[in-house]
Amino acid sequence: MTERYEVHEHDVLVIGAGGAGLRAAIEASAQKASVGLVTKSLLGKAHTVMAEGGIAAALAHVDPQDGWETHFQDTMKGGSFLNHWRMAQIHAQEAPDRVRELEEWGALFDRTADGRILQRAFGGHKWKRLAHVGDRTGLEMIRTLQDRGVHMGLEVYMECTVTRLFLDGGRIAGAIAYWRESGKLVVFRAPAVVIATGGVGKAYKVTSNSWEYTADGQALAFEAGAELIDMEFVQFHPTGMVWPPGVMGLLVTEGVRGEGGILRNAKGERFMWKYLPEARRNEYAASEEEARRWLDASVAGKQTDARRPPELSTRDNVSRAIYTEVKEGRGSPHGGAFLDISYLPAERVMKKLPSMYHQFLELADVDITKQPMEVGPTTHYIMGGVRVNPDTAAATVPGLFAAGEAAAGLHGANRLGGNSLSDLVVFGRRAGEAAAAYARGLGGNRPRIAEAEIEAEARDLAAPFERAGGESPYDVHHALQQCMNDLVGIYRTEKELERAIEELAKLKARAAKVRIVGTRIYNPGWHLCRDLRNMILIAEAITRSALLRKESRGAHSRLDYTNPDAALGKVNHCCVRAGETMRVSATPLPEMPAELKRLFEAAPQPVGAKA
Ligand SMILES: Cc1cc2nc3c(=O)[nH]c(=O)nc-3n(C[C@H](O)[C@H](O)[C@H](O)COP(=O)(O)OP(=O)(O)OC[C@H]3O[C@@H](n4cnc5c(N)ncnc54)[C@H](O)[C@@H]3O)c2cc1C
Repeated sequence: MTERYEVHEHDVLVIGAGGAGLRAAIEASAQKASVGLVTKSLLGKAHTVMAEGGIAAALAHVDPQDGWETHFQDTMKGGSFLNHWRMAQIHAQEAPDRVRELEEWGALFDRTADGRILQRAFGGHKWKRLAHVGDRTGLEMIRTLQDRGVHMGLEVYMECTVTRLFLDGGRIAGAIAYWRESGKLVVFRAPAVVIATGGVGKAYKVTSNSWEYTADGQALAFEAGAELIDMEFVQFHPTGMVWPPGVMGLLVTEGVRGEGGILRNAKGERFMWKYLPEARRNEYAASEEEARRWLDASVAGKQTDARRPPELSTRDNVSRAIYTEVKEGRGSPHGGAFLDISYLPAERVMKKLPSMYHQFLELADVDITKQPMEVGPTTHYIMGGVRVNPDTAAATVPGLFAAGEAAAGLHGANRLGGNSLSDLVVFGRRAGEAAAAYARGLGGNRPRIAEAEIEAEARDLAAPFERAGGESPYDVHHALQQCMNDLVGIYRTEKELERAIEELAKLKARAAKVRIVGTRIYNPGWHLCRDLRNMILIAEAITRSALLRKESRGAHSRLDYTNPDAALGKVNHCCVRAGETMRVSATPLPEMPAELKRLFEAAPQPVGAKA
């Protein structure tokens, strides 16, 4: 071994310091495990900090009719019934406790007139359900969890990127990482690893996601032998900024629509009524007058029999609506739709949406209290990820756990807004608890890391510096983003997906030959070399799963198969490593117990049930 490395030992290694990772680390610490928390950004800067609109939990503070059963129903319907029912049940039942816990730990949520946590409306949620802090909910959540974690004595490794997990006899033995600042290597010996690394948006050209979203956790887990499911389901949020080009994709929170934002096309038409799915049309206001009554009651904190505005349809539906309006020639000047909240009093807009006010004023020279915003779809979230046991968050590899956006199962074919922040704390807690119990249960029988594997990874990481020729990783990254944007976007076809598979194979070969100049000290080009490999791998999982799903369901829309297929409504697509290749197959969904099925009896049939 030519290269020296430092070594740290923990019972539980948590990779990622967003909401899921922090909550997992807090819980594992509470169980008396020694916990290492690794993050490739600074503590407090994880992507969760960007979350705006709120955290979904059936607290029933504003709409007393709400309860876990309705939250469960909404989540299952939003996910087109591809969700794991048990995850959706646990999530709906435990989210209120996790929100109250955040409050106990210091989170200052917006309040109702009588001093309880205020809740706002969001797409796909039947009742006002999102606890929020203006449009800066993620910041408050991270601040709270971070304070709590630091006081529990977590050991934090910041600006440290994990590149590989190690196994011993099929069980997790630890991981290897590099310090971003110096480029030096770190080995973590740990029998339990929690993947909490977030999403994959940087594989796409237009995205709301931060630089951290390079699919690392999904790739680490896949390479260690874990199963990935539902990878075809990528959520395109309907409202990203479309102008100016430098900020294209930046999120415009769904909170704008929750607070009364109206979508119009270039002709001034309020087009969302046209796009409501027939099966759910009766859940929405039938006229401008009814939508306005709903809004007035919402602002006044009063109950109403008015139904919610059509802009609060699910994200997949609103994204397709805007896309279609633009494609048919009714788009705004920069290729989006107009989102208008300027008809409300300026003080209210500035109080409820302060970040949006500043974002548009500073970045686009638009005063949203006076003018409409221009918005369009942006790659936002991946429903797919590491397959986990609903109760323990355990992956299919012993010692591996996953939570948050990197895990799958809760959201099925489409996630409802606000259900991610609650996912992080509900399943982050369960992952931390189960990982600590697993490590404890091993006693002295701990797996070991083979020196040869450390050496192999060290050689692999150093390779881009040692090549005599080769192209820049940035060029390959741009080509990947263009490919995913053009061929695996909102609407998909067999021909384009097949072309994407060919392109991805070429990109994989190019990525294996990229060259880096300079040193390892803070060299983002070098960091991209490994990120690129992860993104291409996961892009392949997305594309292969999308090819296999010959139907339209949730966030996955096929122009060549426009209807849902009942048979495909009973399976998840699962990607596993088979030597050096990827195998994708259909695995059956677990059967929902009769007592939960009963909750849907009066409701419309699940998507695809009769097709
Ligand atoms: C602009 C925006 C607004 C949103 N608003 C909402 C909202 O209002 N409500 C809601 O429910 N959801 C919202 N979402 C979605 C939600 O914020 C995310 O899904 C969620 O925060 C993901 O949290 P996480 O803990 O899984 O990952 P993250 O918070 O992304 O944390 C990932 C962590 O993993 C680390 N990491 C990644 N790779 C590595 C590696 N190789 N080695 C070491 N560390 C690594 C990162 O540095 C980071 O610390 C929003 C998303 C965006 C983009």
